[in-house]
Amino acid sequence: MADSVPIATYVMVIFFIYVSHLMSTLGKPKSWTYLLPPKLPNIHLADRLSDDPIAIKLASTDFGNIVKEIPAAVLYPSSNNDIASLIKFSHSSSPPFQIAARGQGHSISGQAMARDGVVVDMKSLRNYRNGNGVKVSSAASSSMGWYADVGGEQLWADVLNATLEHGFAPVSWTDYLYLTVGGTLSNAGISGQTFQYGPQISNVYEMDVITGKGDFVTCSPEKNTELFYAVLGGLGQFGIIVRARIPLEPAPKRVKWVRMLYNDFSAFTRDQEHLISINGRKQKNAVDYLEGSLLMSQGPHPNNWRSSFFSLSDHSKIISLLTKYGILYCLEVVKFYHDDHTLASMEMEVQVLLEELSFIPGFVYEKDVLYVDFLNRVRSGEIKLQSQGLWDVPHPWLNLFVPKSRISDFNYGVFNDIILKRNITTGPILVYPMNRSKWDDRMSAIIPDEEVFYTIGFLHSSGFDDWGALDVQNKDILQFCYDSGIEVKQYLPNYKTREEWKYHFGIKWRTFQERKNQFDPKIILSPGHRIFSTND
Ligand code: FAD
Repeated sequence: MADSVPIATYVMVIFFIYVSHLMSTLGKPKSWTYLLPPKLPNIHLADRLSDDPIAIKLASTDFGNIVKEIPAAVLYPSSNNDIASLIKFSHSSSPPFQIAARGQGHSISGQAMARDGVVVDMKSLRNYRNGNGVKVSSAASSSMGWYADVGGEQLWADVLNATLEHGFAPVSWTDYLYLTVGGTLSNAGISGQTFQYGPQISNVYEMDVITGKGDFVTCSPEKNTELFYAVLGGLGQFGIIVRARIPLEPAPKRVKWVRMLYNDFSAFTRDQEHLISINGRKQKNAVDYLEGSLLMSQGPHPNNWRSSFFSLSDHSKIISLLTKYGILYCLEVVKFYHDDHTLASMEMEVQVLLEELSFIPGFVYEKDVLYVDFLNRVRSGEIKLQSQGLWDVPHPWLNLFVPKSRISDFNYGVFNDIILKRNITTGPILVYPMNRSKWDDRMSAIIPDEEVFYTIGFLHSSGFDDWGALDVQNKDILQFCYDSGIEVKQYLPNYKTREEWKYHFGIKWRTFQERKNQFDPKIILSPGHRIFSTND
C-alpha cells in the first residue's frame, strides 16, 4: 500500500487514525499534539503519553520546589522499548523534542524536567518488571562473584531489601534510599562508605543504556567502554540507564554507630583524614562508614531529619556546649559486625580507634542498631516531616567538593564568617572527606584535583517566601570560594551559562562535548541541566 498511495495521503491517514484514537480514548484533543510532532510512530506509545494536569504538574516540579518547567507530555513507559521508541521518534523528527528521565524527581533545580518536551516517568516501569526489577545472581566462576541486575527506575531501598533476602548487599550507598538507581548513577551516589568503596558510580559492572539516538546498548569497562564511562556521573546527557549490574558483598547484620563532638575544626578534620587513610577493604582497624556535620545552636541542630541520634539528656549537654562555642563539629563513624561472635572483637577495635582521636572528652555517643535500620536512617525523619507538611517545601541546597588543602580556609571564611554570622541556616550541614583514588577519572563525574577532598552539603529547607535569602547565601559562598581561589566543584551541579559549565568540567569539557556529539547528537536528553542547547 505504501508504494501505491502518495506519501502525503498516507501521512494524513495515519495522523487521522492517531488523532481519532486519542479523541475516542480521552474524549479531547491533547495539548501535546500542538507542541510535539503530530506523527507518533505507533498508537501503542501514544497511549502511554499523558497531558493530564496532575501528571504535568508532578513532572514540572522537583524536591527543590524552586524551579518549574512545564513539559508537553509525560510518558509512562511499560518497557524499555517504549523509551527507545520515544527517543527514536524525537531523533527522526525535525525539529526533535527534548526528553528527560525522571527518577523520583529528587533533584533540586529542574534537572529532571523538560520544558515543552516529554518527561519519562521512570517509576512507571516498576509496575512492568514482573518481579525482575532486582535480580540477584552469582557468577562463582568469574571474578564478579555476587551481583544484582537492577532496573534504572528501582529505588535503592528496594535494592537493599531484595539483596538482603540473599544475605548480600551493595557496598556503596547514599544517605537516603528513596532515590533511583538511574538518578544517583547519573550524579555519583555518595555517603559515608565512599572513602572506602568509592561512590556508587565506582561500583557498577555493566549497564543497559538507551542512547540519545534511541539505540539500546549494553556497556561495561570491556564493551562500549566510552558510553559506560560517559553515563556514570553523566547527568543523564548520553542515555537513559535501564539496567545496572551492581556488585554485592555479604551483608553485616548490625552496626556500632558512634558520634563524637569537637570544638576545634583542625582536630576534627585531622581525625577524619586519619580515619579515611585506613581504607583497605579488609583492614581491621578501618571504619566502615565515616561522615561529619556541623552543629549550631541556631540552624543545624544535634538531631535533625537526617537522623535522630541524641537522647534528650545528651541534647541539653550539647546545647550548653554550643552556647559556649557557637559551633561544634560532629564526627560520625560506624563499624559493621555480623553476629554475637564478632561483637567482642568489633568493640575492642572501636575502643582502640577512639583512643587515637581528639574529640572533647566525654562527648562521645554510641548506638547499636540493625544494619538495615542504619542504612535506612533518613526515612523516619522524612515520614515525620511529611506528616507535618514540611517535606515538600523549598530546598535551596548547595553541595560542594572542596580540596583538602583549602578546607581550613573554607571553615574560616564560610562556616565562621558566613554561616555562623548570618544565622539563617536551616537544615543539616555535612562535612566529610573522601579519597580521589576510589573514583575513576574516565567517568563523567567531576571532583577536585587532590587525593583527599571534602564534600560539604548545605541541606537547607525553607518557607515558600524566604528561600531567596538562602539562595543569596549559597551564591556568596561560591563567590567567597572564587575570590579566595578555592577550587571547589559543585556536586549535583546547577549552572546557568555555558561558561560556568566549561569551568566546572575543566579539562574534561572537551571529552564531555565529544561524548554528547557521539551519543546524543541532536541534544535531546536531560535538557534541565542547561548544558547544551539546540541553538549551539
Ligand atoms: P532525578 O532527580 O529524577 O533525576 C536526576 C537526573 O538524572 C536528571 O537529570 C534525570 O534526567 C537523570 N535521570 C534520572 N533517571 C535516569 C536514568 N534512569 N538514566 C539516566 N538519567 C536519569 N545524593 C547522594 O549522592 N548522596 C546522598 O546521600 C543523597 N541524599 C539525598 C537525600 C535527599 C532527601 C534527596 C532529596 C536527595 C539526596 N541526594 C543524595 C541527591 C540525589 O542523588 C539526587 O537527587 C539524584 O538526582 C537522585 O534522585 P532521583 O533518583 O530522584 O533522580
